[in-house]
Amino acid sequence: MEQKKGSIGVTTENIFPVIKKFLYSDHEIFLRELVSNAIDATQKLKTLASFGEYKGELDDMKVEVKIDKEAGTLTISDHGIGMTADEIDKYINQIAFSGAEEFLEKYKDTANSIIGHFGLGFYSAFMVAKKVEINTLSYKDGATPVKWVCDGSPEYEMTAGDKTTRGTDMVLYIDDDSKEFLEKSRIDTLLKKYCRFLPVPVVSGKEQEWKDGKYVDTDKDNVINSTEPLWTRKPSELTDADYKTFYNELYPGQDEPMFWIHLNVDYPFKLTGVLYFPKLKNNFEVTKNRIQLYCNQVFVTDSVEGVVPEFMMLLQGVIDSPDIPLNVSRSYLQSDSAVKKISGYITKKVSARLESIFKNDRAEYESKWDDIKIFIEYGMLTDDKFREAAMKFMLVKDTDGKYYTLEEYRTLIEPEQTDKDGNVVYLYTTDPTAQYKYIDNATSRVYSVLVMDGQLDSHFVGMLEQELKQSRFVRVDSDIVENLIPKSDRKQADLTATERNILTTMFQNQLPKEKDANFLVTFEALGENSDPVEITQNEYMRRMKEMAALQPGMSFYGELPDSYNVIVNTENKLVKNIIADADKALASEIEPLEKSVDDLNAKITSARGEIKDGKPTDEQQAEISKLEADVKTSRDKQAELIGAYGANVPVVKQLIDLALLGNGLLKGKELTEFIRRSYSLL
Ligand code: ADP
Repeated sequence: MEQKKGSIGVTTENIFPVIKKFLYSDHEIFLRELVSNAIDATQKLKTLASFGEYKGELDDMKVEVKIDKEAGTLTISDHGIGMTADEIDKYINQIAFSGAEEFLEKYKDTANSIIGHFGLGFYSAFMVAKKVEINTLSYKDGATPVKWVCDGSPEYEMTAGDKTTRGTDMVLYIDDDSKEFLEKSRIDTLLKKYCRFLPVPVVSGKEQEWKDGKYVDTDKDNVINSTEPLWTRKPSELTDADYKTFYNELYPGQDEPMFWIHLNVDYPFKLTGVLYFPKLKNNFEVTKNRIQLYCNQVFVTDSVEGVVPEFMMLLQGVIDSPDIPLNVSRSYLQSDSAVKKISGYITKKVSARLESIFKNDRAEYESKWDDIKIFIEYGMLTDDKFREAAMKFMLVKDTDGKYYTLEEYRTLIEPEQTDKDGNVVYLYTTDPTAQYKYIDNATSRVYSVLVMDGQLDSHFVGMLEQELKQSRFVRVDSDIVENLIPKSDRKQADLTATERNILTTMFQNQLPKEKDANFLVTFEALGENSDPVEITQNEYMRRMKEMAALQPGMSFYGELPDSYNVIVNTENKLVKNIIADADKALASEIEPLEKSVDDLNAKITSARGEIKDGKPTDEQQAEISKLEADVKTSRDKQAELIGAYGANVPVVKQLIDLALLGNGLLKGKELTEFIRRSYSLL
């Protein structure tokens, strides 16, 4: 052929500096692009052969990557369809888009978005090469070899070549600042990253063996990839061992996966893959072994945000789809409707698989529940569709280690655990050891208690409450057992106002004064066999604090003190004794004081009644202030009397400390003092 010179058809002056500049951060992907082109050329020839359009040999169809350090070249060779001069003209010389620079500017963040999308794959070679040579011979009858050379300026040179075998050699004269790509170890690492599962053997040098104290080449090709990765094969031909081996190949050194899902769709999009459930153990630290995304067996990325639902990021494995628009930016991905469909499909598949394991092998499913729980909860919290499906196969576990579906559990507890308003009350514990006493109180009343000790459980409880009709979740230590599931109006504590006043002050005086805890004293008639004092923690406030710990925006709740109820059982013998003694010692002095407070308050009320138009006269104001001061004096006097008396009733402090001890709240100095006091009381 005649020598041909020309200028590559781009509107911009010189596209190569632009390619270099914008694609620089991702420069290693040139290898992926060139090997992919070589594979495509090979596959095309096989396809032509299968249609009878090519009748020649199809022997050694491997793609080879060779380094020649002396010449400073990296060569990618294939035995595919090759190119004629016309085809080079058409496919290589015409970069058929206008406004290249503008385009590159727009997508500069994502090198991937340019490469491939607009047929720039081949030109990515110029990210690392100062000169590229194509030596090619088309498969077509009578084709002549062609040599194309371009030194990085838009000028190329196309001449008759000397290639005698079918296929293409892409010779890259590696630039001085890219010498790393002349290192075999670097190239092999890249091939392993991007080409591991390509469908045609990719060869880099020879396999080596240990001989006479050093490694030497054998005559066997060093094949980088496995050409039929597991996800491309039929599930019916695969055994469990195959899936486990493949998992180990993807993530060496990890525990065996619990189970897996083989994905396979043709319509409305094409997608294959295998997703694995790893052993998660209540933590999210699996980010380093993520799902890998492939496009026709070419590795693209392992950041699959947007392609799979967020909770699926806890899974591992491979997704391969030519239909995911891989070459666009992430924000675009998330709004793409094809991607939404794919994400929806994966969600459906995963829930169907879980449901089928649940239905067909409940024992197996239960044995794995603790490991998959966090995944399912995360999914139910973040994905409406998944939640809907998972309501059927999510399990809850009671303190005996028994598992129930939500429906089974409701049936179980409904008869005993429905409160007077018709709500089913789900009791739960977040720490079976620490809350043992409360669990014991509840279970001895034939209540059932759920274990909700997972990382997401405080959120999850809130979600279940919304999903399940007429239900409440109540932590087992949030109230005395009588109040956890209020049945009918209960007996009130039988105390006079004076007794109430005296007891409240005596207990309040002895309770710990901590800035991060509030204690509220209340009285209940709980029967003589129940404990004298119980301490419970307010369910609502506790939940708010727990949520605050997980959600930065709620720090207001996080800073509030813990609030506890101190419930004094007025029917317990010890409490009765305290009341009787206090009555004897204090009632005669306290009662008149209380009476005077009542009188003063009555006067204040009537004085306020005289005020017209909401504005007291100076005289009126002075009178009210004086009355109020008198109330305070009388109150202070009462408190002083009760305080002086109470200080000599160590049993109150003792009862409080015992209750604190039962909740793990008695520590340090207080604990030591309690022990000393106990000895002296004995
Ligand atoms: P894309 O692969 O996205 O089409 P490229 O710039 O990578 O864009 O390649 C342009 C075209 O050049 C390809 O479509 C193909 O027709 C041709 N080509 C590239 N590499 C080869 C090869 N090794 N063998 C045969 N043809 C090739």
